[in-house]
Amino acid sequence: MLKTVRNIIRQSNKIVFLTGLGSIVECGGRDLWASDIFYSIEKKYHMCPEQLLSAGEFSSRKERFYEFYKKEVISYLPHPDETYEIMKSVEEQGNLESVISFNIFGLEKLAGIENLVEVAGSVYNNYCPKCLKTFDVDYLLSSRSIPYCDECKKALRPNLRLLGERVDNDLYTQAAIHCFNADTIIVLGADLGSSKIQYVTGHYKGSNLILLSKEEKYGDRFADYTFYGNIKDNMKKLFV
Ligand SMILES: [Zn+2]
Repeated sequence: MLKTVRNIIRQSNKIVFLTGLGSIVECGGRDLWASDIFYSIEKKYHMCPEQLLSAGEFSSRKERFYEFYKKEVISYLPHPDETYEIMKSVEEQGNLESVISFNIFGLEKLAGIENLVEVAGSVYNNYCPKCLKTFDVDYLLSSRSIPYCDECKKALRPNLRLLGERVDNDLYTQAAIHCFNADTIIVLGADLGSSKIQYVTGHYKGSNLILLSKEEKYGDRFADYTFYGNIKDNMKKLFV
């Protein structure tokens, strides 16, 4: 199968990569849903990560939202590894249609990838809802409790899709168009059974949906080819 998929990739010039949680964990990112972390968060905050990162929490209990967000989310920023360097090299060779990120840690941008749709937002984009001035992660981390705009004193917000908020239709439409245009889609550490991912991959017309995943998931049956194990190692086997 490896030889077949390497040949498919060699003949592809409109590749879409779709990055999920598995691809950030290998870069030192934190999986808030891993059972030990999930349990310690529930114990400490008496809520699960979804509830803590919800629109309701942000609008009515900002102090707790930011306590959680600063301590548990943006204190653990991952750095791009070779997986992201390989995607960048595909872009440099002119064979990239787009990277569609379902993560919030901006690893693709850090790796210099330009053809990118961040459907879930990015921790690196924070803004004042009143004057729209933008602020970096360090500004948030150095604020004592809730970070405020230094000009109009409004509480800042991270540009993320919070639970309970509507998805950004424009971004999902862009992602769906890229999948429609793609000759090959390579999914890195995401669950193909999730409805958000199905929405975008549902527009793909080809038969080269390749999944790289650490472990088996229910949605894997939607893939045409699957490689289990370390994502970075499998990326190297396929591309290098
Ligand atoms: Zn402002």
